[in-house]
Amino acid sequence: MASALTWPDLTVYVAGHNGLVGSAVWRALAGVGAGRLVGYRSAELDLRDREATFAAIAELKPDVVIDAAAKVGGIMANSTYPVEFLRDNMLIQANLMDASHAANVERLLFLGSSCIYPRHASQPIRESSLMTGPLEPTNQAYAMAKIAGIFAIEAYRTQYGRRWISAMPTNLYGPKDNFDLESSHVLPAFIRRFHEAKVASAPTVTVWGTGTPRREFLHVDDLAQACLVLLDSYDSPETINVGLGEDMPIRELAETVADVVGFEGTIVWDTSKPDGMPRKLLDTTRINALGWHPTISLRDGVATTYQWFLANTA
Ligand code: GDP
Repeated sequence: MASALTWPDLTVYVAGHNGLVGSAVWRALAGVGAGRLVGYRSAELDLRDREATFAAIAELKPDVVIDAAAKVGGIMANSTYPVEFLRDNMLIQANLMDASHAANVERLLFLGSSCIYPRHASQPIRESSLMTGPLEPTNQAYAMAKIAGIFAIEAYRTQYGRRWISAMPTNLYGPKDNFDLESSHVLPAFIRRFHEAKVASAPTVTVWGTGTPRREFLHVDDLAQACLVLLDSYDSPETINVGLGEDMPIRELAETVADVVGFEGTIVWDTSKPDGMPRKLLDTTRINALGWHPTISLRDGVATTYQWFLANTA
């Protein structure tokens, strides 16, 4: 186990600090009084650029790096742009890790997602099911890149003794989410669809698939707290799941979001659109044993995310 970090003494670089995950991690680090918090906008530093990444990290010399930088997207974006999802994520993580190694970074947390697990993994999915079967085809490119990232963390530990770790969160949502219907995940897509239908007094909203796949939804602020716990007390080569521990059918999510947003019409399911994984519930035994548990209910989380959407996007 790692010894607890004294945050006020540390320089922390949050890669992807403007995104859904990075901004939540930033808020959590500010909350524990991290000494120096650093993030670069993608216009300032393109992590796909190896030289620029090495130069930035060599100059900064962070004590801790959190890799929340990735090309991410929902089921459509992932299956439409596999080249970019594979290449950009491979480049970002390799550059970040190699540059952090050159700068002697003490602690690095690499974040991925639950889609790294085999399509038919037994549920709830334990960390040990990694690489035990074929992946879900709709997000294979992203998953392959993230699996390589998990292996890179293990390799850095074995070959160079780095105390770096990786964690795999379940489906996340919260402020700063992507609400673009072409590329978003299901929860922000539902917020936008139901909101727009309510405003237009539309009688129906059409959503994708059959509504039967099951998913769990974790608020990013809960994930951010988990990241602090992991950096403080987790020091093992095996990746660790960060999930809610319970899931629901997409149909039930639709009803909850419609209710919170105030859409009272009919939900229509377009079964020509893909369902994706039938289920991906993470086993959270290991992270729960470290003392972390989520605290934000789905209804409260959707309500505050809807408020954020109204203030920033609508
Ligand atoms: P996944 O968890 O990687 O499959 O990604 P998503 O969050 O994009 O999709 C989760 C599930 O929600 C899938 O079964 C989708 O078919 C379903 N879904 C229903 N309506 C929508 C929508 O409007 N957008 C998205 N992204 N998914 C939707």
